[in-house]
Amino acid sequence: MVLMKREATEEQIQAVCAAIQEHGLKALVLPGGERVAVGIPSAIPPDLRPVLDQHLSAMDGVDQVIHITRPYKLASRDFHPHDTIVRVGHVEIGGGRFVVMAGPCAVESYEQLSEAARAVKAAGAQILRAGAYKPRTSPYSFQGLQREGLEILRTVAREVDILTVSEVIDPRDVDMMAEYVDILQIGARSMQNFPLLVAAAKSGKPVLLKRAPSATYDEWLGAAEYLLTHGNEQVMLCERGIVPIDRTYVRNTLDINAVPVIKYHSHLPIIVDPSHGVGHARYVPAVALAAVAAGADGLLIEVHPHPDRALSDGVQSLNPEAFAHLMAQIAAVRAALAPLTTK
Ligand code: PEP
Ligand code: MN
Repeated sequence: MVLMKREATEEQIQAVCAAIQEHGLKALVLPGGERVAVGIPSAIPPDLRPVLDQHLSAMDGVDQVIHITRPYKLASRDFHPHDTIVRVGHVEIGGGRFVVMAGPCAVESYEQLSEAARAVKAAGAQILRAGAYKPRTSPYSFQGLQREGLEILRTVAREVDILTVSEVIDPRDVDMMAEYVDILQIGARSMQNFPLLVAAAKSGKPVLLKRAPSATYDEWLGAAEYLLTHGNEQVMLCERGIVPIDRTYVRNTLDINAVPVIKYHSHLPIIVDPSHGVGHARYVPAVALAAVAAGADGLLIEVHPHPDRALSDGVQSLNPEAFAHLMAQIAAVRAALAPLTTK
């Protein structure tokens, strides 16, 4: 990144951009409060670095050339100071808006999904979640209804008039799934499946990128960078809990720190999944409200019309009554904080 002097002129800024482009690289002008920076949002070959350094440092109007050593650039606020707003149908996510995605862990039947969709929509959710392909720990567990599940999801979404998010686990399914759903979910187990990320990016669909249970922020944002660098800017991050110290009480530990940390370092919206984050329905509301208070851009919550009969993740699924109550609490927390919110 080339930091320009406060008094740098427009001509000097343009000359720096031209010099970067002469080396076959992209240049991105980043207007700042007091001065402008010019970013290079592409990989710089190692042998070019010293040459470029010397060339740019000597130019008029240049203050400093700074090397960013993080594994991400396009995902960074340094390169994109303003919040990204993801547009899904009529819904906008990020930049102070708030979205709730809710529904069962998996599509189990038309009746189950239809009941769930009506309940979550009535309570105020804008997006229906439901998995058709389930990446389960055991190959003997329910693997999802797959193509039939997608058919059901699309049918129900049209009937209920609600947008959808669903997980894709195989790069070969991306284009097919893009015909059925509004947002492609990349699951925690797939966060670093790079061919899947590239395929999802190329689909042009908004992507919800879950954090792997042991991923650092750099690894997670590095995965987001794959989506961005392959041309998809419609990316949301999803914190869904990290490996816990004690699995006797919880399934994962929701890393609430992720909300302010990601918001500081990245412009991408951050969605929190309290259901997988804690793993028990009784704790989900408290953790969900903490995420709202921390500044999350939205929540992804598992809701099942009959959690005791669910084929996957029933223990952590809210029933429709508990979900409706939580939605009222979310509205109250947001209303309480609204007049006090500062950047
Ligand atoms: C899910 O959303 O149902 C799911 C499988 O989540 P994760 O990838 O976070 O485990
Ligand atoms: Mn689940």
